[in-house]
Amino acid sequence: MTSHKTGVEGDSRIPVESSIEFNPGSMDRPWTEERLREFVRARLGDRKLVVVSNREPYMHVEKDGETACIQPASGVTVALDPIMKACGGTWVAHGSGSADRASSDNRGRLKVPPDNPRYTLRRVWLSKEEEDGYYYGFSNRALWPLCHVAYTRPEFRREHWEAYANVNGLFAEAVLEEIGDDPAFVFIQDYHFTLLPRLLRENAPNALIAQFWHIPWPNPEAFRICPWKKEVLGGLLGNHLLAFHIQYHCMNFLDTADRELEARLDRERFAITRWEQSTRLLPVPISIDFDGFSSRAASTAIEAEVRHLRTRFHLEGKRVAIGVDRLDYTKGIPERLHAVDRFLSRYPQYKEMFVFIQIGVPSRVHIAEYRRLGEEVEALVEEINWRHKTGPWVPIVLLHEHVNQDVLPAYYRIADVCMVTSLHDGMNLVAKEYVASRFDNRGALLLSPFTGASRELQEAFQVNPYAVDEMADTLARIFSLPFEEEEGRMRKLRERVLDANVFRWAAKIIDEAVRTL
Ligand code: UDP
Repeated sequence: MTSHKTGVEGDSRIPVESSIEFNPGSMDRPWTEERLREFVRARLGDRKLVVVSNREPYMHVEKDGETACIQPASGVTVALDPIMKACGGTWVAHGSGSADRASSDNRGRLKVPPDNPRYTLRRVWLSKEEEDGYYYGFSNRALWPLCHVAYTRPEFRREHWEAYANVNGLFAEAVLEEIGDDPAFVFIQDYHFTLLPRLLRENAPNALIAQFWHIPWPNPEAFRICPWKKEVLGGLLGNHLLAFHIQYHCMNFLDTADRELEARLDRERFAITRWEQSTRLLPVPISIDFDGFSSRAASTAIEAEVRHLRTRFHLEGKRVAIGVDRLDYTKGIPERLHAVDRFLSRYPQYKEMFVFIQIGVPSRVHIAEYRRLGEEVEALVEEINWRHKTGPWVPIVLLHEHVNQDVLPAYYRIADVCMVTSLHDGMNLVAKEYVASRFDNRGALLLSPFTGASRELQEAFQVNPYAVDEMADTLARIFSLPFEEEEGRMRKLRERVLDANVFRWAAKIIDEAVRTL
């Protein structure tokens, strides 16, 4: 492919025939929706683009006798939706909403977003037993705790594994139905589909297959306890390209494959060859649609919502901290609450002058550890509020609700500090969303060094979430930060996320996948 460097640097209106070569240096920014669309056309040609994930980007649910369409709280879907909007194609995902069947055609298809259709969603139907074994079982009781070092013990059950293998087969059938024998680029998301790439490699000779692993990959010592480790690894090596957030996860994967399989490793090229098929590994941190977030945050609708939230939570004249998470044991929510408790004990001058708002979206509630976490968080909030409350003021507001993406920037904007305290996290997109929402260059990010985001977001206040006293002291430090330092740090953080946005992430993966051919 030819590439004439005629485009103006930083100009999103670069002509199609020019400058679509991927250049990872900071000189070729910014990547935009339009630029990605041109790039994908040039790179993939007439290949069909198919994304596969467990969670669907748009879910229809019955509410008070009416059908509502929501965007589920998942980093994966929030990141990929702008890419599909930019490029078109088909997204294959589990249809899990109560009104999903009624809102799709008889093959599970519909155009989305419903109010401005840009691509096709193909829903895969699963029985309750299939969902139980595949999603709540092997994916989230075995692989999730296995890959996150958060000291929750993985549970391996044969019936979960069998359901997981079966559901991977159902998704393979759906993808094969969508692509037929046509040339395609199939982009698989995450740990729910470790067997799918192998099934596709064997049955779709014209498909280029890539997968992004959104969670950490553990070291070989941790991974070796999985009873189906060889099947999992063999399945993943069906990919032409397997991408992780950071180099450390790639190294762990290489070491794991080295230890568990007969395979040829090329550590220079980050490639593994088995049965004459090669899989290239790639570190490329996922990101967000920075401009989308930033401009939404600056909209008049969000401005109005900010005013509403300030009144609703009585924030006038107070310092505000926020946490935005699914209720998951990897997110370090109890640790964060302990830090708030300690902060108020050590710095009592902040009593009545401080509010911590925690959005805790209920998640995976059919798994006992998640229910226990929900109870623990509620009890802690009650206990800490009781200890510190005076008059009508309580320090912690716990919201058990899912906040839609079109309102979320208002929550980020009311917060002087966003607390991201994961015990272990592949990336953590909330950290990047907070930064993108602060177009006013105000606010600070308190960030766990055990997140993928910590590698890029150097100007955040990085604190070990297990060190509760340090977190409390860091809150106090942030609240007394000179204006210039607060602004300087936020400016730099915003530059980083603007530069390495989700369109660049997608372009890099597609570019590297095509190069494997
Ligand atoms: N999110 C949301 N509404 C909420 C809480 C979270 O839309 O009430 C979104 C949030 O904006 C982010 C995603 O859920 O895009 C969470 O992604 P992250 O990478 O932080 O964690 P994950 O949940 O994927 O482990």
